[in-house]
Amino acid sequence: EICPKEFVLHEDFIKKAIKPRDKHSNKGDFGRALIISGTEGFTGAAYISTETAVRSGAGLVTVLCPKDIQNILSCKLTEAMTINFTQKEKIEEVMCKARAIAIGPGMGNNLWTFSILEQVIEKSKCPMVLDADAINVLQDHKDIIKKSSNTLVLTPHPGEMSRLTGLDIDYINENRIKVAKEFALENNVILLLKGYNTVITDGKTTFINSTGNSAMANGGMGDCLTGLITSFIAQGYEPLEATCISAYIHGYCGEKLSNEMFCVNAKHVMEYIPYAIKEIIE
Ligand code: AMP
Ligand code: MG
Repeated sequence: EICPKEFVLHEDFIKKAIKPRDKHSNKGDFGRALIISGTEGFTGAAYISTETAVRSGAGLVTVLCPKDIQNILSCKLTEAMTINFTQKEKIEEVMCKARAIAIGPGMGNNLWTFSILEQVIEKSKCPMVLDADAINVLQDHKDIIKKSSNTLVLTPHPGEMSRLTGLDIDYINENRIKVAKEFALENNVILLLKGYNTVITDGKTTFINSTGNSAMANGGMGDCLTGLITSFIAQGYEPLEATCISAYIHGYCGEKLSNEMFCVNAKHVMEYIPYAIKEIIE
């Protein structure tokens, strides 16, 4: 049965949720994140999602991408590691050690992406964030999320939600909470429905984000959110909590920066994240 209660996410929630860093901690305590992202012409999506995971506190971050864009990403990413799809053994190893995996941004809506998604869901047991093309390829294959034993976080914008559900986009926009809850419950996933007042739900508990604005409505912004959620899961937060924290921080950055900028790009949000977290928790 669908719970009628929704909670609005305010700063208090985030303040309480974010744990201080123990003075003895090392990078191993903050988890390994694996980001599966990018294709030729879509290196930015992989860069933004990976760099955001690095900048928001994950212990170690690796991006898995096609070989032809690996060097481009290696040049752009200073702290993250890169591997490509031909390195089977390395992939196994990284997947095994990962505490969180993101998949989808800039991969392409095609059979290749679907086959990667299917293999990763089958092989890995850790929580996964499915975004962009990892959502688009599910259109006729929702069974693979339903029967998965991984905790899955899906982060569609209304267009992706429409493709995923077959529902009309206007209907989705008019019934955001209901549509998100029903999908989460039916498919046993955590669903984050993007847009003004982002909805986050596992079908039982529902949160409405209070931060973010239309200055953030431009390409790359969602890739940044994907990296953020993956990073917080890697750091040990429960997936639902990590998703709420991330949505709040993401929107907080956009809103703060929009006081001085007409529009805010993902790179600005990405850069501001570590300062924003400090502002919020202190
Ligand atoms: P994507 O469409 O995947 O690039 O994601 C866009 C991101 O920007 C999501 O996190 C949205 O919630 C956020 N965003 C876009 N437009 C708005 C808006 N008008 N108000 C609040 N957040 C927005
Ligand atoms: Mg997106």
